[in-house]
Amino acid sequence: MAGKDVNTMKISPVVWKNGDVIKWEDANIHVMSHVIHYGSSVFEGIRCYNTSQGSAVFRLPEHIQRLLNSAKIYRMDPPYSREEICNATVNLIRESELDSCYIRPVVFRGLDMDNPSFGVYGMNNPIDTYIAMWQWGKYLGEEAIENGIDVCVSSWNRITSNSMPAMAKAGANYMNSQLIKMEAKLLGFAEGIALDDRGFVSEGSGENLFIVNNGKLITPPLGASILPGITRDSVIQIAREMGIEVIETSIQRSALYLADELFFTGTAAEISPIRSVDHIKVGNGKRGEMTKAFQDEFFAIIDARRPAPNNAQWLTFIADAEEKKTAVA
Ligand code: PMP
Repeated sequence: MAGKDVNTMKISPVVWKNGDVIKWEDANIHVMSHVIHYGSSVFEGIRCYNTSQGSAVFRLPEHIQRLLNSAKIYRMDPPYSREEICNATVNLIRESELDSCYIRPVVFRGLDMDNPSFGVYGMNNPIDTYIAMWQWGKYLGEEAIENGIDVCVSSWNRITSNSMPAMAKAGANYMNSQLIKMEAKLLGFAEGIALDDRGFVSEGSGENLFIVNNGKLITPPLGASILPGITRDSVIQIAREMGIEVIETSIQRSALYLADELFFTGTAAEISPIRSVDHIKVGNGKRGEMTKAFQDEFFAIIDARRPAPNNAQWLTFIADAEEKKTAVA
């Protein structure tokens, strides 16, 4: 099945909905669905790479586990196991015929047409699970990976963990992210860094943040209202393998200005160097050596040119799934 081209972006013509594969055109919901009014969704962002050994999804089980964790926090109980959602994702990639893509599973409170419910409570609304996918290039621009980006510290604080838990990747959290991102872009920056409610560095609107200082890697702890990023975890594991000390600690805003190197991590952003914060040059204003070293290892892993640290299985190959399916059939 051929992909759908919208403004040169290739979109999968098929979407997974509650166990069925449906057409992209049919993946619609009612305007009175709970999620539209009260933001009750949790979701994931996952990349499938066209690696040197065929298409493979990066850390698929970890992403789906985080999806289920996010759902659990919000008392949503999608009737699918981690394995079922992983298999559905892999099968959908095969049907979409995209060799690389960004995968978007989403779980939300919908609307029961026979027994509609419109209040905040939401527990009587059905839980719907969808998976969509499309081809997505470099999130912060093609040049960002090499040249780095200019960012600002946002005037908006990051959500606090006892009001909107950052540990859940909930759609509603991204209202906060939108404030941060819109402000940054309108001021001419590529991205904004939010401080937490105590004034310590938290994260970007859609990325975790790392500082390199005196050969050590420093990053805010989960307590700074950050999403437990899977790229963050990957970089920490790569650093440990390289014998680099990793410190998770509270970071003051001014430490951003004095860092030797600074970079963002995320599924969409991958590893993106930051060359200035609030117009103050970071280091020499270019991608730092350690940042490049992490990128080199990370890109080699996602291209299946080297194994993950501790020989962990970070890649789920699409062809393997096909073989498995044929063997079972
Ligand atoms: N923080 C936020 C707010 C994000 O949206 C993302 C992207 N999912 C990240 C961090 C990075 O997480 P990951 O590496 O798992 O994509």
